[in-house]
Amino acid sequence: MIVHSSLSSFGHVDGGADAVVDALLATCGTLLLPGATSHATRVPAPPDLVRENNASPNVSDWASFDAALAEAADFHRDLPINRNLGVIPETLRRTRQHVRSWHPWFSYIAAGAGADDLIAQQRLDWPLGPIEALTELGGQVLLLGVSHTTNTTIHLGEQLLGRARFYRYAKAAPGVWMELPNIPGASHRFDDIEPHLRSSTRRVSIGACTASLVSVADVLAVTRHLIEASPSALLCDDPACQCAAAIQQRLRQVRVLAAATSGADRAPGV
Ligand SMILES: [Zn+2]
Repeated sequence: MIVHSSLSSFGHVDGGADAVVDALLATCGTLLLPGATSHATRVPAPPDLVRENNASPNVSDWASFDAALAEAADFHRDLPINRNLGVIPETLRRTRQHVRSWHPWFSYIAAGAGADDLIAQQRLDWPLGPIEALTELGGQVLLLGVSHTTNTTIHLGEQLLGRARFYRYAKAAPGVWMELPNIPGASHRFDDIEPHLRSSTRRVSIGACTASLVSVADVLAVTRHLIEASPSALLCDDPACQCAAAIQQRLRQVRVLAAATSGADRAPGV
């Protein structure tokens, strides 16, 4: 199960984040939680390394880049998880046995019997591999008091269709930076998927928290259906947003596929 969570959504919890982590470990089988550290490890796009439709400005000179590199934290497995991902993943990381991947931008943590296998499916060039592995295991997405704007499985769905595959840059070790492909983009419109998943989502209230459970396979299927119907599904129309670059990436892929199938008697599969 991949879990996205907000502790404060519960209201008061006896035992706080520790109690929620205990409950997850006791009831959810193998857990996959976000462990990203880009808030600390990110460096700007280097001078002249321009990637098309990348929604990330290049810094103008190497002196500025080197200054940013010196200031960034280098990734190590004890680096705290981005606070924007909530206190529950960081509590598990600090206090429970777990496995953590070493992607310097988009790390995951996992606990339970299948943890090693899930984490092993992350590659530096395919950060959402653990979610893909979860699909094959019949995995579920659990949203604890958060909306689909946190639901990274939607990002996997759009990336499989050639969208929101950005290059980003992070400090991997002292003095060492990496270019990291296939980093997902904006998710602020992802809750548009909710009506399309409602019939396959199980919901319960736990205190003030609404918990939603839906299969990874259903999220991927609905995402695919929506994007195939419209390349801009689940994105905004602000030209300054990452959404616009993601749409352009998708349209480029549509054109490539259309060219590859032109002359054939079937419609392009897009
Ligand atoms: Zn947007």
